[in-house]
Amino acid sequence: MRALVFTAPSVVELHEVDEPTARPDEVIVQVAAAGICGSELHGVRTPGFRTPPLVMGHEFAGTTPDGRRVAVNPILSCDCCDLCARGQRQLCRERAIVGVHRPGAFAERVAVPRSSIHELPDGLSWTAAGVIEPIANAVHAWNLAGAPAGVRVGVIGCGAIGLVCLQLAKLRGAATVVAADPSPSRRAQAEALGADAVAERLTGEFDLIFDAVGVPVTHHDSVALLRPGGTALWLGLGSAEAGIDSTELVRAEKRVLGSFAYSDAEFAEAVTLAEGWDTGWVGSFPLDDGARVFTGLMNGGSEPVKALLTP
Ligand SMILES: [Zn+2]
Ligand SMILES: [Zn+2]
Repeated sequence: MRALVFTAPSVVELHEVDEPTARPDEVIVQVAAAGICGSELHGVRTPGFRTPPLVMGHEFAGTTPDGRRVAVNPILSCDCCDLCARGQRQLCRERAIVGVHRPGAFAERVAVPRSSIHELPDGLSWTAAGVIEPIANAVHAWNLAGAPAGVRVGVIGCGAIGLVCLQLAKLRGAATVVAADPSPSRRAQAEALGADAVAERLTGEFDLIFDAVGVPVTHHDSVALLRPGGTALWLGLGSAEAGIDSTELVRAEKRVLGSFAYSDAEFAEAVTLAEGWDTGWVGSFPLDDGARVFTGLMNGGSEPVKALLTP
């Protein structure tokens, strides 16, 4: 079968690869849509994040051999450690991810555990199914923040994760949402999705700020612009540098919460939410075009915000 393979630093290529084989507790999914994630664009350039050769792709949906349309929760867990027992599979001590630690969905077919599949509602488009995974990330971050209504929300970074955080905040009854991104086209996208204001760099005061970038300056802003007692949700992995004034965490009781992935229940909620989700920021491309699209985004292209490969 054909697959987009990460072969060397900053290189992805279309290759003919072996068909996946499924163990007894696994199923082969015929991939219909697989999103290219910012973590993958970062991961192929930056040593230590992804190890070639690798078929990436962890945001995907497709069809099982018995004809069911499914989305796949790519977080694999041991189901027996203390954190799995608490329902925090995303923090499993043996955590692995489809498309990172085993072959992923930038291919015609992929083997996944039966326990990872979620059936899709009838009529849900493959485009919407392809963004269930990013939506699940936003659901988790919102829940970590305590699911507050009527709050002033700031969103830093209008890539896919920033946009789904913006969309979810509107859906959950935020009073206002201000979104920031250096890219004019991405700011326009945020406005189209209902942002009350957009800016190159965030200003103002907020109860809740999502940092979907994760570099020192965005970390700094996500804390500095909080009201006393406010919460910053960090979803970005741009840099290991903190960049914040840590005394604000003490004097103003500001909180910084890291948010990684989602629980199974949150993934299931995202499957439901995907129906009716505005996906105007998503573009679809054939797998054969994957290397060109991936490389363009990796080299700084800002369009589309989310590219889905449709094998
Ligand atoms: Zn991702
Ligand atoms: Zn575990």
